[in-house]
Amino acid sequence: MTKSDLSLERIAEMMDELAAYAGQTIVIKIGGNSIDEDPDFLPSMAEQVEFLQSRRIRLVLVHGGGPQIDRALTEAGIQSPKRADGRRPTTAAAMVVVEQVMHAISRAVANALEKRGCRVYTAASANRLFIDVKPFANVPDGLENLAGRPTQVDADDLRAELDRGNILVLHCLGRGPEQQVFNTNADDYAMAVAMALGARRLMLATNIKGVLDANKMLIERLSPTTARALIANGTISGGMIPKVESALCALEGGVDGIVIIDAHIKWSLLGEILTHKGFGTLLARE
Ligand code: ADP
Ligand code: MG
Repeated sequence: MTKSDLSLERIAEMMDELAAYAGQTIVIKIGGNSIDEDPDFLPSMAEQVEFLQSRRIRLVLVHGGGPQIDRALTEAGIQSPKRADGRRPTTAAAMVVVEQVMHAISRAVANALEKRGCRVYTAASANRLFIDVKPFANVPDGLENLAGRPTQVDADDLRAELDRGNILVLHCLGRGPEQQVFNTNADDYAMAVAMALGARRLMLATNIKGVLDANKMLIERLSPTTARALIANGTISGGMIPKVESALCALEGGVDGIVIIDAHIKWSLLGEILTHKGFGTLLARE
């Protein structure tokens, strides 16, 4: 017989892990980069999400759209620089493009799930916004800004859709102070939703192995103290900043485990949930 990594003990561990999630909520954030770079990503994600739902796990998918938005803005000749922390102030002109791109990505995510027979509730199709957003404070002078950070989440409305047996597909748009459509970073959005729903897990799936140290080596377990130090000294920069900051916030808010994982690794979503070793970077209390 050929040797395998499996043992009865290992299989029992996976089954216990899965059983412990029944009735609980997992929030998965999928990066715009992952969708953009890998045509196999959405079908593979859908296969894993369908499996989890069939085991009575409640699933919320949040997506961004960074590279798709960058491309569409360039084509439209609209400037929309990102801040040093990877978050994007959004002008009214850029917002028109952002909304179109977000709706298109939501449809692509929902289609991948529907192809597998999943029931999906999509905020974009329902034309609903589920969060309040507080505008960024320090934006350059004269820049009219329609972006900020999530404050309040309509958690009861999201729960009602999960209760109906739907998988939720949410873009990262919300309501500004005057009820205008406001943009947020999808990592920030996913964190706010995970906290409001009391999710057991927040998974931030991206296009890189996880958080890398100054020597570009994967950090498997990251404590809040080290995470803050790596942001302060610039080792963690750009789009990784909102992920790590969101993870820290969710940890403080009581979410059990936050992982930053490579969405391109086959079965990484399931593997992360079912095995103790996991993939990517786990943010955990010291
Ligand atoms: P997503 O679309 O998944 O949100 P982002 O481009 O916003 O992806 O953020 C992920 C990027 O952050 C990585 O591809 C990498 O270029 C950058 N990054 C900056 N610092 C680090 C770090 N220390 N470890 C890993 N990635 C980092
Ligand atoms: Mg990002």
